Amino acid sequence: MTLYLNTYAATVKPDPYILMSEWADEKFQLAEYSAEKGSYRLDRTPFMREILEELSPQSPTQDIVLMKPTQLAGTTGSLILICFGIDTGIGDMLMMMPTDAMAKRFSKKRLAKTIAIMPELQSKIGPAKSRDSANTILDKVFSGGSITLSGSNSGASYRSDTYRVVIGDDLDGFDLDIGGEGDPGELLDARTGAINNSKIYKNSTPTLKDTSLIYREYKSSSQGKFNVPCPECGELQYLLWGGVDADFGIKFERNDDGEIIDIYYQCEHCTYQIYEHKKPWMIERGEYVHKYPNRKKRGFHYNALYTPLGWKNTWARLAEKFLIANKELKAGRTEKMVTFTNTMMSEPWEGPGEQPSWELLAARVEPYEEKTIPADAGLVILVCSIDTHDTRLDVLVRAFNKDEESWLVYHTKIHGDPNSPEVWDAADQIVNAGYETEDSEVLKIISVHVDSAGHRTQSVYNYCRVRAPKIVAIKGAVKEAAPIVGRPTMQDVTFGGQTIKGGCQLWPIGTHQAKILIYSRLDLPGRGAGVYHWPDGTTDEYFKEVTGEKLKLKYVNGRPVYQWTPEPGRANHALDLEVYAYAAAIRAGINRPGFWDSVEKAAKSQPKPKRDVDQAKTGGFIPAGAGKDWFK
Ligand SMILES: [Zn+2]
Repeated sequence: MTLYLNTYAATVKPDPYILMSEWADEKFQLAEYSAEKGSYRLDRTPFMREILEELSPQSPTQDIVLMKPTQLAGTTGSLILICFGIDTGIGDMLMMMPTDAMAKRFSKKRLAKTIAIMPELQSKIGPAKSRDSANTILDKVFSGGSITLSGSNSGASYRSDTYRVVIGDDLDGFDLDIGGEGDPGELLDARTGAINNSKIYKNSTPTLKDTSLIYREYKSSSQGKFNVPCPECGELQYLLWGGVDADFGIKFERNDDGEIIDIYYQCEHCTYQIYEHKKPWMIERGEYVHKYPNRKKRGFHYNALYTPLGWKNTWARLAEKFLIANKELKAGRTEKMVTFTNTMMSEPWEGPGEQPSWELLAARVEPYEEKTIPADAGLVILVCSIDTHDTRLDVLVRAFNKDEESWLVYHTKIHGDPNSPEVWDAADQIVNAGYETEDSEVLKIISVHVDSAGHRTQSVYNYCRVRAPKIVAIKGAVKEAAPIVGRPTMQDVTFGGQTIKGGCQLWPIGTHQAKILIYSRLDLPGRGAGVYHWPDGTTDEYFKEVTGEKLKLKYVNGRPVYQWTPEPGRANHALDLEVYAYAAAIRAGINRPGFWDSVEKAAKSQPKPKRDVDQAKTGGFIPAGAGKDWFK
């Protein structure tokens, strides 16, 4: 009987009576990588308290979702959960991160270092780096359970094992193609199988609203937001950025040098100016307010405005980040504002720009002539793009200035089969022509992109081979994340398979990113960075084509992704031309330091060519003496 009882006691351990929040305050140690080190103090990040309580075995809650800014306690929560699990023998645990490399890094840099400074854990898990297979980087066995670390891109993700604790860390970074098996969130849910009182903890910084996995999880949760009381009126509120027109949120003043000299948070209830030194008082008294308190899945949300004093993201630092992002946004570049919104405000971004209306754009043509550049464009470069079809070439010439503001100069079609030389002779005439500014200067095209996709690839290569680097063959890149201009590959090889020096280059173009950028700019009005201009006489056909695609939400292996899709009955050739032309400007170097200085120097040093197209053949704005490598 005694023997039976002992065995029973050793295998079926009761859950500890201590809450994970109390355990963390009493025992957990932060290693030197943290913003703070030494004994963990929950009162520094009180927004973690309810999350840790729900993660405790005593709570019946099984699903815990945290939508968070970067580098503010989310992964520390995962670490506490794992260490608590080791200390109490919680059972088998799985922590999945976006990649295997991240899982390894987490294990070595964070988990191993934490275990090393907590002797009670070290004694339960055995020394690291031993030959003992019970303690490897990605698999650790301890008394009463195990921890498996894995990347969402690894085979271990789809193993049929079940776990008592499943952690999806940084969910929005998970592999899109996760074994072709469906939504990563649901795959994680399946990993707990039928185990009683299991826990699934998902945390991430959100991404795009329609595709963010953590946002979807949060939407289906209780939707808790960490509210704090106003020191003046005592009313609870969730801290938000606000904005210039809002009567709440972050407000600041700057001096003439643009430095922030005064910053405070305006209470949404009494408009009291709350200075940042009141923040510890406020967050200590904070609490989660759940929009759907009856939902079993518990959701938690906070942002970088809650960062503890002494950490790097102060309100002033956030305001500086916001100002930089806002400046970029006004120039039609959304990336920094998307990053600020996602990583600092931990809000999903409202998705890429809407499809511009072709009628509104067509109404914006300006009184300058085709094949000319308006005088007020300032210093510009000319680029050209050519799209190849079976029966014609589409050609577009555009002028860009240093702020990426641009003017359509020429848009035309050359009819004929691109396998015949006459078509390319006609292309040469456009590519080598001079284009007049209203100041009677003649500019030459300096960078040309010719699309090689389709049935006329060899003819495109033949045309470009002897005209590089000014004229090169391009091809749309498959990957969404591909840069607008990638690295070229050499297309010409010998009979024996060796690359021929000076052969044809093929440049990959990130069409997905370029289209997002162009769509966000087409609507920009007036003058300024990124604005598009069109001459009087630009056809309706052009405007219909340049807006002929839409970014649509589709499901690939159960995961939502945005894909560019042609509108029914609409061609998209002009949009392709604009993408290749913008890429031609990028390849020429419009964003490279010193580029515009050399363009200006070259423009000044050149004798003013006569207003004669042929005279300008060797002119243009290619910087003098730069040699043929100047594109690189
Ligand atoms: Zn107030």
